[in-house]
Amino acid sequence: MIVNLVGTAVVVAIVVAIGMYVDKKLRVDVKPENLKDGNIKVMINRQRSLQKRQQVDIDRGIGTASTAGDTPATAIRAGQAQIANLRAGQRCKECRTRLQAHGPDEELRYADRPLLLLHFRCPSCVRKRSLYVIPT
Ligand SMILES: [Zn+2]
Repeated sequence: MIVNLVGTAVVVAIVVAIGMYVDKKLRVDVKPENLKDGNIKVMINRQRSLQKRQQVDIDRGIGTASTAGDTPATAIRAGQAQIANLRAGQRCKECRTRLQAHGPDEELRYADRPLLLLHFRCPSCVRKRSLYVIPT
């Protein structure tokens, strides 16, 4: 019984020691005293690139499944005339300015069906938006 407890304690101690060693080698733990100027710059750059990626995701409608057409899963079913209306009627979510087409449409496939991805850009605040459409 005691042998089992001691054996378990030894195994736990070894695992903790390995974890601490790996932490130290990879600098996983971020403590204020570990932050030199270079590290802070690296962290800020990482933060910025993460924010940039998140902004790209928001602009492309990924991760913010709120409005119809923002994601492939919420794509809008539309015929040619409705697509023309969608093209003309988009407004910037930020400043409500009418959006302009930005670049050619993309033809995609999602869940075994063709999708059209329309790209827009706000002429005022330069915010981008993409709209997923299922052509009918
Ligand atoms: Zn705008």
